[in-house]
Amino acid sequence: MASLSLPARQKRPLIGCTTYRKTADQSPPIDLFGLMPAYVEAIVAAGGVPILIPLGLSDEALQAIFERVDGLLLPGGGDIDPDFYGGEPHVSLWGIDRDRDRVEFFMARAAVARPKPLLAICRGHQVFNVALGGTLWVDVSSQMPNAIKHDHFGVHPRNYVAHHVKLQPDSRLSLCLDRDQTDVNSLHHQGIRDLAPELTAVAVAPDGLVEAVEIIGHPFAIGVQWHPENLIRDDPAMLSLFEGLVMASVQ
Ligand code: MN
Repeated sequence: MASLSLPARQKRPLIGCTTYRKTADQSPPIDLFGLMPAYVEAIVAAGGVPILIPLGLSDEALQAIFERVDGLLLPGGGDIDPDFYGGEPHVSLWGIDRDRDRVEFFMARAAVARPKPLLAICRGHQVFNVALGGTLWVDVSSQMPNAIKHDHFGVHPRNYVAHHVKLQPDSRLSLCLDRDQTDVNSLHHQGIRDLAPELTAVAVAPDGLVEAVEIIGHPFAIGVQWHPENLIRDDPAMLSLFEGLVMASVQ
């Protein structure tokens, strides 16, 4: 595994991670804000300090958090409300939380405007695209022509390699991973349809679906449709995405 050596006196960067709402299974049920530990562990392994960002905050409070973090991670989760990109209602939609959409659009747009480093994963990759004016396939398997299977939910473990992606040579992503093609897991039923004007596609699946994006000229702004945090043990190069985020976030 690649090792990261920040100078001893250098402050370890704070990486703000957005969260999701979950109802805990206890009596009576209680509402929580949560995040899967794999994201936190990947940031720590890369030398950063994760800070969880709750939902339900005012824009003013979100701005105060944004000012204090050095970088941002937008994790996976449920679907974005299709109203935000002109999509139609669909039977497959799940986990919609318009407040989470609002919080993550705020953080994605702020990270682009400032700029501050951003790594956007799965749902985060889709949020990144929609926040900047792109659209999604509301359901890839029933809408995108000649789509391969991307929704490997439930049957396989989260590190199951579902398909490969071709990387754009000389993209920041391909330099991070040090390869031009890579195997990925695939835990999504939506995907990018129209790319936002500011984004460049830097990885595509065998069916042509855009599986990674970045902003050329930004210090570090990458979205990936797969879950690198679940692949690090099998493919240590996947940690380099988190190391890239952390290194770009060092003040
Ligand atoms: Mn996929």
